[in-house]
Amino acid sequence: MKVSELGEFGLIDLLTGMISTSQNKSAAAYQNLIIGIGDDAAAWKGDSATQLATTDSLFQDVHFRLSTTPWYELGWKALAVNLSDIAAMGGVPEYAVVSLALPPDTEVDDVKALYQGMIELAQRFEVALIGGDTCRAPLVSITITVLGSARDKDGRMLTRSAARPGDKIAVTGALGAAAAGMEMLDKKLQLDAESSRQLRQAFLQPEPRVAEGQQLVALGVKAAIDISDGLISDLKHVCEASRVGARVEVERIPVAPAVRANFKDRALALATAGGEDYELLFTASEEKIAKVKTALSCPVTTIGEIVAEGPGNVVMVDAHGAPVDLEKSGWEHFGA
Ligand code: ADP
Ligand code: MG
Repeated sequence: MKVSELGEFGLIDLLTGMISTSQNKSAAAYQNLIIGIGDDAAAWKGDSATQLATTDSLFQDVHFRLSTTPWYELGWKALAVNLSDIAAMGGVPEYAVVSLALPPDTEVDDVKALYQGMIELAQRFEVALIGGDTCRAPLVSITITVLGSARDKDGRMLTRSAARPGDKIAVTGALGAAAAGMEMLDKKLQLDAESSRQLRQAFLQPEPRVAEGQQLVALGVKAAIDISDGLISDLKHVCEASRVGARVEVERIPVAPAVRANFKDRALALATAGGEDYELLFTASEEKIAKVKTALSCPVTTIGEIVAEGPGNVVMVDAHGAPVDLEKSGWEHFGA
């Protein structure tokens, strides 16, 4: 059946049914919910904590292609990128509203798959889907707004502006797999089954580091960003906001093994400029980072340090501290 046959209200009813049967009613966000889907706006009882809001849109043929992105993964990713922004503040995601634009000939089953992906991730992080909007458009777009709060009672958060000279720079997980996955799907590259699975998952179903962001706050970390544009670009955002410089030791960058194995000379380019990994980059004293490494269940790698010189600049260096020209190391191939 097409969306046009079901109609806007029929579709909303169907999605509301999916959401209400699948979501965990004992989660805190639900306990505080007064009005969910069905009225002109949702309502919930806020506590006095610091509140957070973020929004991100995915547009067909700008951010995704339907030829390479299954609907389930699209729903997952649309919510994941928003949860990642809350993670990068060290916050707790609580509520999500979804604005959906669909061509009238979209299959209802595809929209159901989209919501299944979204619901799966929402359940995992106990986020309540409390409303949205549905309209027709020539192409698909999904805009999600996530509301949350700072768990910390003093309202401590992770910000881009809190990096200080002397801080070390660290990242969670490994980098480059999402960009490699996109390229693999776009160019229909044939890789071994395990690499293919890993890269595909990194690109289509990123895991937002929500728990890790909250742990960073608890351990006293103050500066962080999520890697959406790419390591260099996002670190530059931190440097600009904090008015500091950064030195990154190229050899230390944790390039995902499947990227190293399959994209040899371009692996570093994918890891530094590829983006969409949704890992957290943070800065803190060496002692704090040592504690983070013990506390977090994911890998944490120190890749460099924050310096006072060259505010807003990211410099790549080798193990001896000599500047590295990334263009000559294959970075240019990326076409950044
Ligand atoms: P209005 O005309 O006031 O905008 P709508 O008919 O658009 O109301 O929406 C009716 C209810 O359904 C609202 O509670 C709205 O939040 C919810 N809703 C609409 N579209 C979606 C969607 N795509 N996902 C989740 N909830 C939706
Ligand atoms: Mg509406």
